[in-house]
Amino acid sequence: MEEHELVIVGAGPAGLTAAIYGKRAGLDVLVLEKAGIGGQILMTDTIENWPGVISSSGLALVESLRAHIEHFKIQVRKTEVSAIEPTSGGFLLRTGKDILVTRALIYAAGAHFRHLGCPGEARFTGVGVSYCAVCDGAFFEGTDVAVIGGGNTAVEEAHYLTRFASKVYLIHRRDTFRADRAVVEHTLANPKIVPIMDTVPEEIAGTDMVEKLILKNVKNGVRSELSVSGVFIFVGQLPNSELVRDLVRYDEAGWIHADEKLATSQPGIFVAGDVRVTSLRQAITAAADGARAAMSAYSYIDKLGPAQKA
Ligand code: NAP
Repeated sequence: MEEHELVIVGAGPAGLTAAIYGKRAGLDVLVLEKAGIGGQILMTDTIENWPGVISSSGLALVESLRAHIEHFKIQVRKTEVSAIEPTSGGFLLRTGKDILVTRALIYAAGAHFRHLGCPGEARFTGVGVSYCAVCDGAFFEGTDVAVIGGGNTAVEEAHYLTRFASKVYLIHRRDTFRADRAVVEHTLANPKIVPIMDTVPEEIAGTDMVEKLILKNVKNGVRSELSVSGVFIFVGQLPNSELVRDLVRYDEAGWIHADEKLATSQPGIFVAGDVRVTSLRQAITAAADGARAAMSAYSYIDKLGPAQKA
């Protein structure tokens, strides 16, 4: 059976940083990732808060992470983990075609975008409804689109969409944005942005593609229609923690609890990045988590002593 000292689930900034630290500490490291290297950075147009890099596209930053991983000859395997089970010496992981065992695990599976749940959302996903402006923005050249949400993601992505769309309606359920003040000011200064406050979408409607939004003003209850050909939904995130929910403690929304060393309630499982309970979810905080989790995993493995051969 394939054995490793440290398996890392997830190849975003948290998992990749953990892999670099683990490998440099001399551990036998394997990274498992179901999609591509980079995680949510791949969906980010511009990154301006990665220290030492004044401004970078998400793609360029991912390419530099990939080069770093290749430089240290770290194995990243594209596969989806279907189960994680504790064993006497560590953990057994089932993937599509393999069974692996590892002495310790760093869980860095990140988060995914929350859905609104209104009528039309599921039906029009991929034909007008999107959760990724960088991926789909160019399809809406010269049209009017709506962005739903009031956090940093919604406000930043609304600004990005002005590159393509004629008009971007920024629809938020309250009268003040949650996003950082500077981000809001920058976005609202763009003449293509039309904020619509105190408003929620009740339905996304159309025939074959999105044609309009049915909106409701939450203060006065008035309903209205808005013609748009695209609806970008950024109403927060949810943790990708299902795989370890039988093993570790997590909060009511599923974010994983960890101590100061990023150890979870299950000895041998460490957590890093967006999937954990934390006050800030950024590429840089994920990377910092990865470093800390790797060094904690190193100490844990070291204390276990030499592996018992099966
Ligand atoms: P977020 O900060 O949780 O914001 C979610 C937004 O969606 C809020 O404005 C919320 O409204 C709204 N919302 C939630 N459920 C809704 C519903 N059912 N209907 C309508 N609106 C709904 O999520 P995020 O913007 O994805 O950001 C996630 C994390 O990443 C945050 O910590 C954020 O700061 C960080 N981030 C940082 C940057 C950056 O620093 N450059 C960029 C992107 C993201 P309420 O405000 O009323 O709750």
